[in-house]
Amino acid sequence: MRRTAAVLAGKATAGLSRLSRRGGGTTFPGDVARAIDPRVLRGLAGDLREGAVLITGTNGKTTTARLVASLLEGLPARVVANRAGANLIFGATAAAVARAGLDGRLRADWGVFEIDEATLPLAVEEIRPRAVLVTNMFRDQLDRYGELELLARTIQRALQQLPSSGRAVLNADDPRIGELGQALASPPLWYGVEDPRVGVDKLPHAADARTCPRCGASLDFSAVYVGHDGHYRCPNGDFERPQPEVAATDVRLESLDRVCLEAAGTRLEAPLGGLYNAYNLLAAFSVGLALGLDPGYMARRLATAAPAFGRQERFERAGRSFTIMLAKNPTGFNQILLESERLAGARHFLLGLNDRIADGRDVSWIWDVDFELLAEHAELVIPSGGRAYDLAVRLKYAGISAAAAPEPDLGRALDQLIEAIPPGGSGHLLCTYTAMLDLRALLVRRGWLQPYWAT
Ligand SMILES: [Zn+2]
Repeated sequence: MRRTAAVLAGKATAGLSRLSRRGGGTTFPGDVARAIDPRVLRGLAGDLREGAVLITGTNGKTTTARLVASLLEGLPARVVANRAGANLIFGATAAAVARAGLDGRLRADWGVFEIDEATLPLAVEEIRPRAVLVTNMFRDQLDRYGELELLARTIQRALQQLPSSGRAVLNADDPRIGELGQALASPPLWYGVEDPRVGVDKLPHAADARTCPRCGASLDFSAVYVGHDGHYRCPNGDFERPQPEVAATDVRLESLDRVCLEAAGTRLEAPLGGLYNAYNLLAAFSVGLALGLDPGYMARRLATAAPAFGRQERFERAGRSFTIMLAKNPTGFNQILLESERLAGARHFLLGLNDRIADGRDVSWIWDVDFELLAEHAELVIPSGGRAYDLAVRLKYAGISAAAAPEPDLGRALDQLIEAIPPGGSGHLLCTYTAMLDLRALLVRRGWLQPYWAT
């Protein structure tokens, strides 16, 4: 059978790449399997006893996918999930191939796949999911600017192709998602935040998508939560935020390790920090509701969820504690700067900026990050990574007197940070994608962290 041959070839490729120490997250077995049988993912997805969930959007995919997988695993159920960042069709295929048996059959109950926005139509067609979550649509980086409208139409087209058993789960607070979801034939499950205490009343300057999709007028916002996500309406009355079925009220951002909220009559909490994680928690819970999971069970399970790799990871060194956070675009960066300062009293920062393909080659998006937030309380800010010098210029213009000289070498920058923090203090490491991988590899070499494919 062709599928069996594809699965075996994929597995052999995965074995070889492990031998050559390419580590976790490779998608090459997916390429190989698809070259032999282009329908391999359709077949394997069809083997899932319960079905699959696809998760797309600019920010929060990995954390939310991890939370959804944890909800399903606790049922208990056997869950297949792709690796963080392996979110193209090849990554999803590689994950399914890795879990398939030598007979080419996938023995699992659920698939949970994070999927790049542009890949969503193909993923919906091949995987036929039970639910598709769209978290948010932020401008990723400057070299992707202008693609957002196109991506919104791509996502909309994919959602229109959902099987009748499939449900779209959408963030009502994001104007672009509000627009694309209201045009769908079958009603989506909307979720959103409804707690003015955790919002602000104006858009940060990194926000975009502020105009009405119908008439082009500037949208009025009565609350802003993350980036351009909030409560919006067109002053001409032809477009407004959909009323969410699952609304988060009484949102409490207690620390970088604890967020609580009330939704659909259920008190939820998770060991995650910040408003963006309140959205991730709410999104995962909404997916669970769409799949018919019990709210009480979900509350118990989510309370013990572990953060996704790299999104917020801790290590201790010489009596100091460190938090690593991925910040890959202006909205994410601003939110993390704001919340690490507000929730964790962060004073010592290492900022890692790289310009490889996965980070975006054009780093001028750092001019849309509000580094000015650091001006008042930061005691040391070390610009590092391959583009440390660009960061240093940005920090200079932001008037950050605590900015150190640029140190492109992450290891030396980390040593400098450790030295500057008093015993018992904490350091915050904000990195773009490949800077985070580099930093993590360095920490693994030093024996301070586990390799991520072993955790
Ligand atoms: Zn309008």
